[in-house]
Amino acid sequence: METVGDVTRMRLVGGNLALDFINTRTGPPGGPPDDDVLTGYPELVAWGGYAGALTETEAAALRRLSRADPRGAHAAFARALRTRDYLDEVFRPLTAGQDPSAAVLARLRDDEADALGHAHLEPGSTFGWAWRDDHTLVRPLRPVVHAAVQLLTTGALDRIKRCGGCRFIFNDESKNRSRRWCSMDDCGTAEKIRRYVAARRTRATR
Ligand SMILES: [Zn+2]
Repeated sequence: METVGDVTRMRLVGGNLALDFINTRTGPPGGPPDDDVLTGYPELVAWGGYAGALTETEAAALRRLSRADPRGAHAAFARALRTRDYLDEVFRPLTAGQDPSAAVLARLRDDEADALGHAHLEPGSTFGWAWRDDHTLVRPLRPVVHAAVQLLTTGALDRIKRCGGCRFIFNDESKNRSRRWCSMDDCGTAEKIRRYVAARRTRATR
């Protein structure tokens, strides 16, 4: 059984909150997911805290709220999974240079409208959307949805890529747009080992 601890051992390699949310499911490249760290509402809140979508105070308040309203927490968790599914359908086609469907973009628009309806503008070096006063159980999803819209509207779409070794999606922020792996430490290293073994086998058969 997954525990909340698994959520906080995930690598945050997407370079964007929405991509990191998609990457809570792992598996081979091109294939269906074979593991999922989001197994319930407590894990969703733990992930939100870990990924920087929630402050510790907000996470604690949501845990209390979910204990008082288990049915509401269940519904919010179901919505989180649906959100992750459609975000996957928004960004995965983009990694192949294809446009997402109008239907999934409409869902994203509706959720962004809902998110901004619960946000306020907070001053800083520029003003930014904040959800400090949003005490709904879907609070963890607000910044995720907003990050998706930000990436679509202000990001470089050709930098949105798929890892060559697993199903992770990331925003390639490297200077020469050469990033191929979610992380050099796992998929990148696995590929290097694979090539090394293949090269040695070739040499051995000569
Ligand atoms: Zn990978």
